[in-house]
Amino acid sequence: MNIKALNGFKDILPGEVELWQRLETLARDIFARFNFSEIRLPILEKTDLFARAIGEATDIVEKEMYTFVDKQVTMRPEATASLLRAYIEHGLHVQKPVQRLFTIGPMFRHERPQKGRLRQFHQMDVEVLGSTSPRVDAEMMAMGAMLLAELGLSVSLEMNSLGCPVCRPGFRTSLLAFLDERHQGLCDDCKRRSSTNPLRVLDCKNPKCREQVLEAPSLLEHLCADCADHLSGVQEGLEQLGVQYSLNKFMVRGLDYYTRTTFEFITGDLGAQAAVGAGGRYDGLIEQLGGPRGVPGIGFALGMERLVLLLQQKEAELTASGVDLFVAGLGEQSSRYGFGLTHALRTGGMRVVMDLEGRSLKSQMKQAGKLGVPYVLILGENELAEGKAVLRNMATQEQQELLLQDEASTVQTLVALISA
Ligand code: ATP
Ligand code: MG
Repeated sequence: MNIKALNGFKDILPGEVELWQRLETLARDIFARFNFSEIRLPILEKTDLFARAIGEATDIVEKEMYTFVDKQVTMRPEATASLLRAYIEHGLHVQKPVQRLFTIGPMFRHERPQKGRLRQFHQMDVEVLGSTSPRVDAEMMAMGAMLLAELGLSVSLEMNSLGCPVCRPGFRTSLLAFLDERHQGLCDDCKRRSSTNPLRVLDCKNPKCREQVLEAPSLLEHLCADCADHLSGVQEGLEQLGVQYSLNKFMVRGLDYYTRTTFEFITGDLGAQAAVGAGGRYDGLIEQLGGPRGVPGIGFALGMERLVLLLQQKEAELTASGVDLFVAGLGEQSSRYGFGLTHALRTGGMRVVMDLEGRSLKSQMKQAGKLGVPYVLILGENELAEGKAVLRNMATQEQQELLLQDEASTVQTLVALISA
């Protein structure tokens, strides 16, 4: 019997997990710079929450959710709905008029697994609740761009405005008329949804549909005065903060809740899975979920698998070892001494590896080389008898003799030498 992980569910093994940690550490640092607080949310929620928040006619709700039908609960396919549920449930708007929250964790969608597309995947999700300021929109995009830039990734930012309940109906009418004339040229999915959810046709990936909608009316031309003002405020903010972006009139996003600003961070390096992050404003959603009236929101989520793939493709700086020192003991006496010294070094904060299998010096040096450690401490029997050891710098191949004093002083000396 050979049980394997489910298709689309993946183990993250040592060797790769370091990249995840680096990504998460940097993200936490940047979120803190922008004054975001962490919130941790359950993975299982009532199915109704997602149906109401994300929208019945979306791909996610129609076909991608992992639902326990008998219990009417669903493994979260995204974080915003749960986060808003918690915001409303705990009255967070009373504590602070503007909440800046982030959450990191796994999401679940039953889609076709491929490179950068899994069934359990991870998102870093950030939301600002309680502000309509276009500067917040600009700041969100600037924060995403900062994270991607500090990761060394070159990713472009595309933005659109989806208008609001005032201007979208007018746009919808003109889009419906436009699609009506081209009904025959659309894919089957779009034929069906052109009447229920016509905006979705605009971002259909089918080349047939893409061609049909090239001349489609643009929401940008239908925006009401308030939405147009908001958009120019966002653009002004992005320019002030030096964030590069382009307007994409076809971007409508796969969730129903968006209003006004929507955006995606796009890479050319992952084939079809081009979006590494996406989000937008959802000014009516909190109220629609039973929350306080008129509280607006905006958020985005970054896909961690896709970011890790991009980091792996950059490879070069990945070889940095997570180890400061390798202790090589030769013979029982030295190994015994090394065993104690290793523990003292670890207590002193160093990351130390020691071979406890009594292997030859050659084999231990090979291990150290594989680990990419910067230093090896070689403990030979004769040297040890004379109170000495050898510290080898793996990069320069230089060796220096070290006088072994009492353990505390030896630790101090080694820490000083290695951190220098
Ligand atoms: P896509 O168009 O790639 O399906 P989406 O619009 O469904 O993405 P969102 O719901 O906006 O994605 O999620 C935000 C980000 O989460 C995406 O930009 C992507 O990086 C990541 N993501 C979404 N679905 C998956 C998945 N199945 N596997 C891995 N990452 C995903
Ligand atoms: Mg999707």
